[in-house]
Amino acid sequence: MLVVMERGATSEQVQAVVRRIEELGYMARPMAGLQRTAVAILGNQGSVDAARFSDLAGVKALVPVTEPFRQASREWQPENTVVRLPGGVTVGGDEVVVMAGPCAVESERQIVDTARLVRDAGATVLRGGAFKPRSSPYSFQGLGEQALVWLARARQETGLAVVTEVMDTESVELVARYADVLQVGARNMQNFSLLRRVGRAGKPVLLKRGYAATITELLLAAEYILAEGNPQVILCERGVRGFDGATRFVLDLAAIPLVHRLSHLPIVADPSHGTGLRGTVVPMARAAFAAGADGLLIEVHPSPEHALSDGVQTISTGEFAELMRQCRAIAEVVGRRVAEPVEVG
Ligand code: PEP
Ligand code: MN
Repeated sequence: MLVVMERGATSEQVQAVVRRIEELGYMARPMAGLQRTAVAILGNQGSVDAARFSDLAGVKALVPVTEPFRQASREWQPENTVVRLPGGVTVGGDEVVVMAGPCAVESERQIVDTARLVRDAGATVLRGGAFKPRSSPYSFQGLGEQALVWLARARQETGLAVVTEVMDTESVELVARYADVLQVGARNMQNFSLLRRVGRAGKPVLLKRGYAATITELLLAAEYILAEGNPQVILCERGVRGFDGATRFVLDLAAIPLVHRLSHLPIVADPSHGTGLRGTVVPMARAAFAAGADGLLIEVHPSPEHALSDGVQTISTGEFAELMRQCRAIAEVVGRRVAEPVEVG
């Protein structure tokens, strides 16, 4: 159960609620949200009578929270979270957002050229890895800070917001200096110290679903970030492990409407990692928009066959431009519109 406080409730009023919960023999945990504070009642079996709080000032309502995640749940916040990115792009509102770019930043020319091409086709966020989590320690690991500098240059040239992965707590400060959105990768979805740290970084976070993680675990991972006071979380469905090696992962499209029912947080889909196969990326991207995704994260390279990582699942800039045309039509059918790039002067 949550005791939801009125907006503007004072800390004395919150403390009075905490005392009342403890008098009733339960534990109390105040949680400061973006709009208002709520106090979670822990340790109760069944519901708690709202009348027990009716004499306390500043109390708005008692809300049952049936899910283990709290601030991430729709019970906590019925209205959608809209994450605002530089350049006026919003994720989780009426617009659907396309985030595109190479798996990894390989050179200044590669990232700036790709940024221009995806922007001209209609992307509003540029992706590109500087620190790459690779299955093998002998694979290309990314170019680190140099790549961050080039991403910032690409942003300057195109006006695109930049999303890039942060792999460990030590590099959060560095990555946050350059990125507009901090990506937490699938392999780090339950790296709780990293989640707490990005929760304090003051930047929106793109949290990717672990490929053996349930939807509940994804939302509990988001809860770690929200619990640190960062409400700007974008979830990402990027495929889970299946039994059939025909695709590398199985994009769980049902996760999109399920997450929308359970949570107010936006969810985007990554059909590139979600299948691991170039030929399936475009159809799955279309399907994700049709299923209600708030955006796409998609790997695009001017020359996918020469990409230093994930070339087999990367589409060309030409294929991407065609996909964008299709996405605009699908967005219209589901009552959304694709966010358009801003003009840079
Ligand atoms: C990526 O987006 O570059 C990436 C490594 O994805 P994931 O964490 O989903 O494997
Ligand atoms: Mn990749």
